[in-house]
Amino acid sequence: MDFKQYVTVVEDFPKEGIRFKDITTLMEDGEAYKKAIDQMADFAKNKEIDVVVGPEARGFVVGCPIAYSLGLGFVPVRKAGKLPRPVLEVDYGLEYGKDSLNIHKDSIKPGQRVLITDDLLATGGTIEATIRMVEELGGVVVGIAFMIELSYLDGRDRLDDYEVFTLMTY
Ligand code: AMP
Repeated sequence: MDFKQYVTVVEDFPKEGIRFKDITTLMEDGEAYKKAIDQMADFAKNKEIDVVVGPEARGFVVGCPIAYSLGLGFVPVRKAGKLPRPVLEVDYGLEYGKDSLNIHKDSIKPGQRVLITDDLLATGGTIEATIRMVEELGGVVVGIAFMIELSYLDGRDRLDDYEVFTLMTY
């Protein structure tokens, strides 16, 4: 399936010079959404994964259905101030801004095998921060799955030590 035909490229959003890849049009199509999730879940299938982790909000859109289809749990990574129990916090840089991310401290058990998911790999800052949190809690990152990779931003260079899967490359 040509997944790109379901993604809408929006010029200058959220600010000038950014070509925003809008996956909501892919999500609106039941068949495309299911096939995309199925292919990402296939990548994860034989990796003996214990838990799926994804950053808000589009990491949930991708990670939750993958976790469900594999019969696994899902751990949310969120912006500061959103998670109710004790958190681990890390700072990170974005293609367009800076922020910090939180994960519940007790959500990953030492030695657990983790699949990290997000909609899109841009600079890799978000995923690098997510990896750092998982590893600091003792988790082992055994795979990282994205719908989209923006190869011109070289985010993959930061993920050299990991097995990375992407459905679409721009
Ligand atoms: P990064 O940390 O730079 O890899 O940015 C990744 C996060 O920002 C992803 O979770 C995306 O949801 C979002 N993002 C960054 N750049 C874009 C873009 N050009 N189009 C759509 N989403 C983007």
